[in-house]
Amino acid sequence: MKYVLYLHRFFYKTINYYTLMAIKITEECINCGACEPECPNNAIYEGGNEWRFADGTSVKGMFTSKSGISADADAPQTPVAMDIYYIVSDKCTECVGFHDEPQCAAVCPVDCCVDDENWRESKEDLLAKKATLHV
Ligand code: SF4
Ligand code: SF4
Repeated sequence: MKYVLYLHRFFYKTINYYTLMAIKITEECINCGACEPECPNNAIYEGGNEWRFADGTSVKGMFTSKSGISADADAPQTPVAMDIYYIVSDKCTECVGFHDEPQCAAVCPVDCCVDDENWRESKEDLLAKKATLHV
């Protein structure tokens, strides 16, 4: 039994290493704002505020994101959430290339910056995303 548990942990860790996830903010957010200035990609916005690809990046002109959103980098985009802070997944690199761990999760006082199980990317994917955001 102990051996089975060890194997399970080993495979879980291995899978997580190769399939990192973007970060999302849950309903537990208390709107303290601590995470927003920590994001190296300016991927975090206050609820109700429009977001832009150009915010905090070097993206200019027409841009197509990994998820397929095509827009002028300076064009305002519809907020993802209205009442709590939110993360634009297309701009989140899980801090790969900047820091050893997601900075939003590190500073959040209520631990509501968590892995987004619907947005899996490899470390290589995240580095490639960073390269498109910061030329
Ligand atoms: S994980 Fe890093 S890049 Fe993603 S939203 Fe949080 S601070 Fe920004
Ligand atoms: S640090 Fe946490 S509680 Fe504060 S705004 Fe960000 S997600 Fe919300």
